[in-house]
Amino acid sequence: MNLTFLGAAGEVTGSCLRVDHAGGAFLVDCGLFQGGREADVKNRQALDFDLKAIDFVLLTHAHLDHSGLLPRLVALGYKGPVFATAATVDLLGVMLMDSAHIQEKEAEWALRSTRRRSARRRDMNPLYTVEQARTSLSRLRAVGYEVECHPGGGVRCRFRDAGHILGSALLEIDIDERGHSRRLVVSGDLGQPTRPVLRDPVHIDRADYLCIESTYGNRAHRSFAATCDELAAAVNQTLKGHGGNVVIPAFAVGRTQELLFVLADLVRAGRIDRLDVVVDSPMASAVTELTLRHDDLWDDETRALHAWMRAHADRFRLRFVQDVEESMALNSVRGGLVIISASGMCDAGRIKHHLRYNLGRRECSIVIAGFQAAGTLGRRLVDGARQVSIFGERIPVRARIHTIGGLSAHADQPALIGWLRHLRQAPRQTFVVHGEPIAAAALADAIHRQLEWPAPVVAEPGLRYALS
Ligand SMILES: [Zn+2]
Repeated sequence: MNLTFLGAAGEVTGSCLRVDHAGGAFLVDCGLFQGGREADVKNRQALDFDLKAIDFVLLTHAHLDHSGLLPRLVALGYKGPVFATAATVDLLGVMLMDSAHIQEKEAEWALRSTRRRSARRRDMNPLYTVEQARTSLSRLRAVGYEVECHPGGGVRCRFRDAGHILGSALLEIDIDERGHSRRLVVSGDLGQPTRPVLRDPVHIDRADYLCIESTYGNRAHRSFAATCDELAAAVNQTLKGHGGNVVIPAFAVGRTQELLFVLADLVRAGRIDRLDVVVDSPMASAVTELTLRHDDLWDDETRALHAWMRAHADRFRLRFVQDVEESMALNSVRGGLVIISASGMCDAGRIKHHLRYNLGRRECSIVIAGFQAAGTLGRRLVDGARQVSIFGERIPVRARIHTIGGLSAHADQPALIGWLRHLRQAPRQTFVVHGEPIAAAALADAIHRQLEWPAPVVAEPGLRYALS
């Protein structure tokens, strides 16, 4: 058996693992490279191999850095099935279509803003179109958690709850080779245990070969309790103390639902009196609806909280804004609202309008609850910019900026090590993937020292590893 890490090696995006075995070949994930100028080049160069050799694709979850090249894979000629959990299939219906819209818009923009001759225009085609995304969705096959599935080539596979986002899975893949059955475990993205909404990652007890993510392989998160305290203080201070609005930029998938849970929980506990919350992002609304529909995937606290919310709709008043007029009407609301909107890093979407109308007002506050990449508007706010430019207009930053650090969809180092402790013995080989080089190296070191396993391999992009 051979493993080739086609992405998410030495970085956190572009997840794609190719497995070659006696019975054929398959991919685990087919993710988009994101961030930075090279990402576009990498996305166009990815999948440059004989796609007919691939029998099937297994998808760990719907985040685009794990799924976002699927439309391109199918457009380039991949004919086989793509297996994922039912919730992932539902999410992809929203997310791949949205991604394709963005690809088309960016290509249009690039074409308009360039003076290059038509000979160069081929590169400016969208990475994939809305039509191609729709076609790729027809390849998806939903599989249940914990059910043994037989995707082909004699491979057996189980999707197990990874507790990262709705539908996320870690994969146990059993492959027969030369009379032996070998188990490959791919962690996908692992959630931080005890976080709201979703269940904790399932523990595994056996792996011959293991690929473990390392996004926060060198960090410990701030405690969840401290995060709730900070959020309660920011909301109370702004709504009651100053009479302004609280604006929260949030990722549509996962973070928005988590924030709704935390806010409702604070109201239930009496730490916030009553609350008017508006979710203003079509994608976040769609994903929240999917989360409500998949109530079988919630943890027990979420079940109890949801029952409370239904009984106390007067104390936690939640509204989902759909059309643009309704969204614009929020601009004239001077105070008393919590507005959750996307994008999570403030560089696109309706959040920019809410910042435009609230940033300049001392009585308002902005709560940053997610990762802000360098170069984004959100990052400038975190870094303390005195004024920012939105839609070409200079807006002074007078609102208070609160950064709350403890909400993360990824396990930190103690949680990753804690999860690995459930294995009864060390795998024959461990590969550390999906992390910046420093984070990956730190996790490899921690695994070696704390668990006393043989030194893990920090996966290198494009290298083919023969498994012993
Ligand atoms: Zn993810």
